Amino acid sequence: MKIYKFLIIAFCFFNSFAQNSKPKLVVGIVVDQMRYDYLTRFEARFSDNGFKKLMYNGFNCKNHHFNYMPTYTGPGHASIFTGTTPENHGIIANNWFDKFKNESVYCVQDNSVNPLGTASNKERMSPHRMLSTTFGDVNRLHTQFKGKTIGISIKDRGAILPAGHSANHAFWFRGEKEGAWVSSTYYSNELPKWVIDFNAKKLIGKYLKEWNTLYPIASYTSSGTDDNIYEHGFKGKEKTTFPYDLKALQEQNSGFSILKSTPYGNSIVTDFAVEAIKNEELGKDSITDVLTVSYSSTDYVGHNFGVNSVELEDTYLRLDKELARLLKSLDKQVGKGEYTVFLTADHGAVHVPQFLKDNKIPAYYVDKESFKEGIDTFLQTTFKDEKILKNISNQQLFLDYKRIKEAKLSLDEVTKALQHYLTQQPNMQYVFTRSELVKRNMTNIVGKLVQNGFHQRSSGDIAYVLTPATISYSKTGSTHGSPQAYDTHVPLLFYGNGIKKGKTFKKTQVNDIAPTVSALLGISAPNATTGKILNFVIED
Ligand SMILES: [Zn+2]
Repeated sequence: MKIYKFLIIAFCFFNSFAQNSKPKLVVGIVVDQMRYDYLTRFEARFSDNGFKKLMYNGFNCKNHHFNYMPTYTGPGHASIFTGTTPENHGIIANNWFDKFKNESVYCVQDNSVNPLGTASNKERMSPHRMLSTTFGDVNRLHTQFKGKTIGISIKDRGAILPAGHSANHAFWFRGEKEGAWVSSTYYSNELPKWVIDFNAKKLIGKYLKEWNTLYPIASYTSSGTDDNIYEHGFKGKEKTTFPYDLKALQEQNSGFSILKSTPYGNSIVTDFAVEAIKNEELGKDSITDVLTVSYSSTDYVGHNFGVNSVELEDTYLRLDKELARLLKSLDKQVGKGEYTVFLTADHGAVHVPQFLKDNKIPAYYVDKESFKEGIDTFLQTTFKDEKILKNISNQQLFLDYKRIKEAKLSLDEVTKALQHYLTQQPNMQYVFTRSELVKRNMTNIVGKLVQNGFHQRSSGDIAYVLTPATISYSKTGSTHGSPQAYDTHVPLLFYGNGIKKGKTFKKTQVNDIAPTVSALLGISAPNATTGKILNFVIED
């Protein structure tokens, strides 16, 4: 009896000790273009060690949403890790019109830095346009820069924005003829030796093989038929059906870049992340490190083949295996219970509208060219000047202030007339003016999402929202960007050190993730955080 009591006391002591220790490593996993319902749609064939390990041994926030538009990759990754929205972090899209420079800019492009690991000038990238800190930045400051931060993704923006400003490294994949992991001089003067060695092994070449379904194709009952009219496919192959001979198709599809649009793009990311954990000694001491891993091939496959495709189902069944491989490596390298993982997405996706139409669900396409022509004609007839409109991008209109002034027109009058014109167009759900958005008193639910995505300096003069399932896109493949539920509802799973087991239907939002991770680590929230701490996921 006495021994029994002693064992209970000893267990409680060690248990409380374990609970009080901080995670040695936080791993933030982003799956690019993952709708929440992919967890339930494909669950029957997920293994116990991938998605389901996080779903049932961690905390599953089942009603997790983006709280702004536009729901794109750049803003998505920035918002997850900064705990705020484009209104504050300034990443208002992937590419946007810089009205002060009169040119389109890319969210992570930075011509003041040089590429590493490639001679291509296309890889000059840094997080300089992001205006606020990530939880990785705060952890760096908190640990006197002893806690490391590393960002990894096929996409440059998927690696750079999550890792933040003070990251040790961010690595992304360069396809084309190179097939190598690259970075920029923003982080260091040269690539770490292990990255140079990894690239020299040319392991990536082994993925230029046949992409066939993981299981017999007849068993893919959670998707439509393989041969259908809603898929884009690869150049050089007429039918969008399995198998895809990647070696044969690579020539016409930008060399190694073809791998991005296959599940093997995710395998490449896992290979490299496992290597990074080992070589950077992440989670080896008691000072918390941060690793961000973004799986982007899901997005490329979604754009190419659509939400309902067999290709997409196969990509998720294979991603489940990649996740299991990553978790296994974390168990081995960092230790079971020593690390904390969260998994989420940067946005969801719409079913191919043509597929919806063919199945009696309202869905529409807006042709970009005729949309713009209509506005120009309206401006010509109303104000005798068809060039008042400078740019349309990311569901926003930018007006030419100089021209309006020279023509002695009132900016307010032009804006209001345009707003009225747009509200009369088919498939227009809402139209908001700059002055409405900067007042910060939006009570309309969708309007609030537009406002959260609206940066007062760099955003446009009019923002519009199209009706549900309306896109400006090709009739094949899926896309995203709207404030509608199919784009905002994504998974949020927490697992590991300090995380309770459980689930909730309570609404959680993208900007809640960073303050929650910060609370878990006992550090300040990132500097522009607007989210709340999800205290119900954290162990007492
Ligand atoms: Zn996308």
